[in-house]
Amino acid sequence: MAESIEVPKTDALGRKVWDKAFYAKRAAVRQFEDGQDFDHDDFLLDPSQSRKKARKEAPPPAERRPLEQRKDAVSLDTELGKSKIVTTHTPKQQQGGYWCTVCECLIKDSQAYLDHINGKRHNRSLGMTMRVERVGVDRVKQRLNQIKQVQHGEEDQEANDSPAAIAARLRRMFEEQAKASAN
Ligand SMILES: [Zn+2]
Repeated sequence: MAESIEVPKTDALGRKVWDKAFYAKRAAVRQFEDGQDFDHDDFLLDPSQSRKKARKEAPPPAERRPLEQRKDAVSLDTELGKSKIVTTHTPKQQQGGYWCTVCECLIKDSQAYLDHINGKRHNRSLGMTMRVERVGVDRVKQRLNQIKQVQHGEEDQEANDSPAAIAARLRRMFEEQAKASAN
């Protein structure tokens, strides 16, 4: 960005005095950039110069869909406790650590791997933006009702299985049998 960051002034008590108009403008610019899904890397650096390898092409912002829940489980401990020999000829995928098949990169620890698969670059490669779809109040209500119904169903089931309920059912059965035999 061409704007220089202003050095904050201080008031009589030595507290910083912020130029509110300046920061409001900056916030607005930033919000606009977020809306455009603006990438500072794309803006500041020429990828052919900054990255040794050209990064895998992600779909353009207009074609990206909102962030979705991951469908396959993440297994962090499949390689746990294993030993293997790694030489200079070992393919990168097998050099130990976590290999991301989407971005084709090797990550050395689980924390970094989690950060990576939850990160902007990875999800962008998957064709998603980092923004979650906005859900209206109707859909929230619908979902709450759904959950409520399921819970009620479970409660009914529990009520049916309680000793009192079983005793009542048995009593009813015996009464009906007694009535039947009396007739
Ligand atoms: Zn990745």
